[in-house]
Amino acid sequence: MDQLTAKFRELARVIEIPYPWDTSAYVARVAEYRGRPIHLCSIDPDALAGTGCGTGSGLWIAREHDDVIMYGGETPWHNDQIIAHEIGHMLLGHGIGKADNADDAGDLPLRELMPSLSAEAIRSVLRRADYGSDREHDAEAFADLLMVHAMLPRRRASRIRSTFFRARHR
Ligand SMILES: [Zn+2]
Repeated sequence: MDQLTAKFRELARVIEIPYPWDTSAYVARVAEYRGRPIHLCSIDPDALAGTGCGTGSGLWIAREHDDVIMYGGETPWHNDQIIAHEIGHMLLGHGIGKADNADDAGDLPLRELMPSLSAEAIRSVLRRADYGSDREHDAEAFADLLMVHAMLPRRRASRIRSTFFRARHR
């Protein structure tokens, strides 16, 4: 098992993955685990002009007391993948942890993109270019694992496990 898969399993033990899959329920659990609210903010797919995460339409905005995930997928599945990718950055500890880089987002119309949320107290805006390719790769791999796990038929998975168990201990 590679390191990322091991980390994913460890996280899945402490933050239960809802079944059937429910994005807001999972995000709420992650927020509780981190002790910081997470707001989801839907945006136009082109709003970030391809500078966001993954395929270019996701963004993590860290504010003083909460986090905002912007997502601009073309389909509901794509939105889930983007949100899972940003959660991956959060749970894998990819926050920049240094002095704020909020000014780097000067080219993004954040106030217009999040009219329902105040754009005050932004500490950092994390885009693809802020992470480096390893972290981008890990966040995407986390999102893939989460999405696959979320879609797994649970009952079948446990039946396979118990069949395996019986076969080994017969
Ligand atoms: Zn990313």
